Amino acid sequence: MKRVYNFSAGPSMLPQEVLEKAASELVNYKEAGMSVMEMSHRSKDFSDIINDAENILRDIMHIPNNYKVLFLQGGGSSQFAMIPLNLFKGSKKADFIVTGSWSKKAVSEAKKYGTVNVLASSEEDTFSYIPKVATDNYTADADYFHITANNTIYGTRYTADSLPKTGDVPLVADLSSCILSEAYDVSKFGIIYAGAQKNIGPSGVTIVIIREDLIGHAMDITPTMFDYKIHADNDSLYNTPPTYGIYMAKLMFEWVAAKGGVEKLQEINENKANLLYNAIDSSELFSNPVAKEDRSLMNVTFVTGNDELDNKFVAEAKAKGLVNLKGHRSVGGMRASIYNAMPYEGVEALVTFMKDFEANNK
Ligand code: PMP
Repeated sequence: MKRVYNFSAGPSMLPQEVLEKAASELVNYKEAGMSVMEMSHRSKDFSDIINDAENILRDIMHIPNNYKVLFLQGGGSSQFAMIPLNLFKGSKKADFIVTGSWSKKAVSEAKKYGTVNVLASSEEDTFSYIPKVATDNYTADADYFHITANNTIYGTRYTADSLPKTGDVPLVADLSSCILSEAYDVSKFGIIYAGAQKNIGPSGVTIVIIREDLIGHAMDITPTMFDYKIHADNDSLYNTPPTYGIYMAKLMFEWVAAKGGVEKLQEINENKANLLYNAIDSSELFSNPVAKEDRSLMNVTFVTGNDELDNKFVAEAKAKGLVNLKGHRSVGGMRASIYNAMPYEGVEALVTFMKDFEANNK
């Protein structure tokens, strides 16, 4: 069986050992005589799965006790609405820093329910950097402050050190494309949210990590399914959750723990990203458009400056088993998404191919 190195931005590559473990339990889960897919979400076996998933995630992210972990549906995109519906409880104002298409979508949803202050945007420069805004410019009485921690399309990120220091205003962060890739201090956030389909498992599960005092203030118009309190009070079992996705997430959390935890994966991710950025920086053909201090660890963008050559690169790479390297349709060029499941060897294979390609296309 031949597996490729899959550089897709999401849904993304999963570790072969996780897929094999799932395969070994697919038809008959631990003598239950049925698949996890066929199980009641209220069965003992499934309760054990969701509890284990939560506990292992708490452990690997060091989530403090005053935070709830919710397993929801609707993707990061539903959170763009769910957050304002639940957090606009005082001034109904929120600060946003716009660092890409996903931040913009979050802004459009929030605007429906309150006042959005866009403190800064890097759009005029194709989102190639993270704007730094002085704290004096933050809205003192905002109900929350929203950032996209890693910009999947443009390849920029906030590092743990560059996160806005919002004081008493809850910092809300979209970690869809960087959760579990590097260590974050959860206590610095009011809400962390992430779709599963990059670092956690198949699409369909959305993880929300929320400080308890932010729960229970939803606007009257909030649909029941968009009220964090409903899901928190029901341990994510208010309705039928994405059971198989939660099972896969549990296997991935176990895999992260077995690898040595998020801190160890961060080290590996830094090595992978350095290898690739160094190859780009030392090349005469490829370049990376992003401000160096804001470079993403997970999504590495690069271009030759010639669309035809970019297309040739993507096609030839595919023939070598290096797939899904085409940049997002809105920006073109190339993008290598190197999430946790991408081994160092996959990035080495890409770098080797880039050198060969450059030599052959001088
Ligand atoms: N935020 C970010 C940073 C993303 O990369 C994506 C999707 N790639 C989304 C939000 C939207 O997520 P979903 O498709 O799960 O709604």
